[in-house]
Amino acid sequence: MNAPIPDTVISSVRAQAYTIPTDAPEADGTFAWESTTLVVAEVDAGGETGIGYTYTDACAALLIREALAEAVEGCDAFDVRAACLAMQKRVRNIGRAGVAATAISALDCALWDVKAKLLDVPLARLLGAMRESVPIYGSGGFTTYTNARLKQQLSGWVVDDGCRWVKIKIGSAPERDPKRVHAAREAIGEAGLFVDANGAFTEKEASHYANVFKDFGVLWFEEPVSSDDLCGLNAVRSAVRAPMQIAAGEYGFTLDYFRRMLDARAVDVLQADASRCGGITGFLNVAALCEAYHVPLSAHCAPALHLHVACAAPQLVHQEWFYDHVRIEAMLFDGAPRADGGAITPDLSRSGCGLELRRADAQVYAV
Ligand SMILES: [Mg+2]
Repeated sequence: MNAPIPDTVISSVRAQAYTIPTDAPEADGTFAWESTTLVVAEVDAGGETGIGYTYTDACAALLIREALAEAVEGCDAFDVRAACLAMQKRVRNIGRAGVAATAISALDCALWDVKAKLLDVPLARLLGAMRESVPIYGSGGFTTYTNARLKQQLSGWVVDDGCRWVKIKIGSAPERDPKRVHAAREAIGEAGLFVDANGAFTEKEASHYANVFKDFGVLWFEEPVSSDDLCGLNAVRSAVRAPMQIAAGEYGFTLDYFRRMLDARAVDVLQADASRCGGITGFLNVAALCEAYHVPLSAHCAPALHLHVACAAPQLVHQEWFYDHVRIEAMLFDGAPRADGGAITPDLSRSGCGLELRRADAQVYAV
């Protein structure tokens, strides 16, 4: 006899923001911060609870509780695409990008998590994995760091975690960058070196520094100019020679944004962030675009959130192992991945995304 079909209607939605101080001041080419805000979304359906999250402003929690909850409650938890469409429609008049996209992303991840839990399978299996583990690159190297701290962090990723590549921030005081890049190269030996300017340079400056960095074997120049300047990205991309690659895409909130970036031939590698671009659903959509345009995809930040979808995404080359998020995810989530041999691997003995919020530990940071 078949088992009875469980009631899989989404019965409730919750969200909570947490602001966690950094362990030291952090900055990049265009921004400085001393705390990070995590917004956690939860959905209940059929006796299971799904969890998702995003790094954004605390107001996203309010948007989830007040607007998005109303859109998805009553949807069937198995019909994630229908719930996504309901969320997109709900935010039409406030704008789909920005904070709304981060809120939708967190909730979309929670919807996929609860569906996998209802089916009692790991999310990677529900999505259909094409790799068992995901290569990571160590990412941090903030412009606030001394060169000694920079070298210690980078060599830790290479020696202890087995990372094949590491990334540092540049651009806040460009005159210091050649020395910082040199220090990074000294710390990591033959490993791949990436730099990220977070849009700090003009097109001319970016071409100049690309020329300087190539002597240190820099393989990846991220956001050499503003991501909104697609012509500028394309120009810098045309000016630099292989093996240096131009990357951008972290501020993509909608599929149209990524299509425009690819149409403009602005990047060698597209970056996407599931905590901004529409969650698991959005990330898979971007991965399909990358397949159609024959462009590799790299997952931006939030490694624990990406782990399962990164196993399932065609064209994915690596996941960013971002210092601040790795620290927060290890602190607040049971089941957060650990770096081993330069990769992270889902625990297939856990259903869903495998993450559980440590509520007591998180409560201290509740907004
Ligand atoms: Mg970046």
